[in-house]
Amino acid sequence: MSLTLHVDGARWRAHLDAVATANPGLTPVVKGNGYGLTLPRLARRAGWLRDQGHDLDTIAVGTYSELETVASRFDGDLLVLTPWRPFGPELELDEHLERRVVHTVGRLEDLVDLLDRHPAARVVLERRTSMLRHGFDADGLRAAGRLLRGRRTASVAGVAFHLPLDQGSHLAEVLRLMDDVVAADLPTRTLWISHLSADELATLRRTYADYVVRPRVGTALWLGDRGALRVTSTVLDVHPLRRGQVYGYRGRTAPRAGHLLVVSGGTAHGIGLTAPAGESRLRARAAVLARGGLDAAGLARSPFTVDGRQRLFAEPPHMQASMLLLPAGARVPEVGDELDVRVRYTTTSFDRVLVD
Ligand SMILES: *Cc1c(COP(=O)(O)O)cnc(C)c1O
Repeated sequence: MSLTLHVDGARWRAHLDAVATANPGLTPVVKGNGYGLTLPRLARRAGWLRDQGHDLDTIAVGTYSELETVASRFDGDLLVLTPWRPFGPELELDEHLERRVVHTVGRLEDLVDLLDRHPAARVVLERRTSMLRHGFDADGLRAAGRLLRGRRTASVAGVAFHLPLDQGSHLAEVLRLMDDVVAADLPTRTLWISHLSADELATLRRTYADYVVRPRVGTALWLGDRGALRVTSTVLDVHPLRRGQVYGYRGRTAPRAGHLLVVSGGTAHGIGLTAPAGESRLRARAAVLARGGLDAAGLARSPFTVDGRQRLFAEPPHMQASMLLLPAGARVPEVGDELDVRVRYTTTSFDRVLVD
């Protein structure tokens, strides 16, 4: 009766193991909706990877609010990716958690403030990249270096770069940023980095052989083998539909005869009016024009597949269910049948995650 994520357990674990083997110092990113797999499951799975003998002592969460969920399920260090600020939940950490947390810091005033509050804080200094999200510029990083030379109780766990998603090579940018890191003369030789290819990581490690490079990986780890994952929705009801018949919250009339399907999965699960992009927009638009018919009635394509095709929403998705139009001629599923669904994992909350 639910929107379900099915995981081929053996295949998924083999993939995780392979990624960890290929990435010494891997820092699994465990944030948000847990990439659809939930935070508790990912935190426990990171511990399992470490127990397999991988060099894995830290996981990264996105925000301070996520710490509590993962802290009881993974007993290593907890890097917070969102930079520390002098407000919000970071000021309410309890002492036992404070000792396990590695703070990301991206502004000099925050470094001063954090070390005033916790002189022995563990910090990663973020160097701003072309993403322009967070972090020190080159001068800021040098100033941080000077400050830290006078604050020896602080523990500097590394420098971090957060790079844009793979648009060509990042290596030139990384090597430029490394010049700033070296110039800042920081008391660390650890580099935390995201979104580098295997080749780029290898080159970086060769070029800066005195640095430990620690890749932070979320998507390519947890969702890297899509063949291990399958999403299904359950058919909850099937109604024959006459042309012109009225249905739904909005009293629409059926543009032609067929069937109305009520299936599990709605806005509360993150099912939106637009299906995840798969075709290019132009091609999709051309196909809509060519198909005419139901599309022309202003109906949107759903992510639910029936009889091999993604079907149209009969109306915008409801909170936990969706209504689909199935034109006459298509094979009609039965109540209880499962339909394949295309979702974006990072924005979907599943009712169940079944690992087999
Ligand atoms: C989310 C995040 C990552 C992981 O990104 P993926 O694309 O899921 O691998 C790495 N670093 C930072 C700073 C992030 O916020």
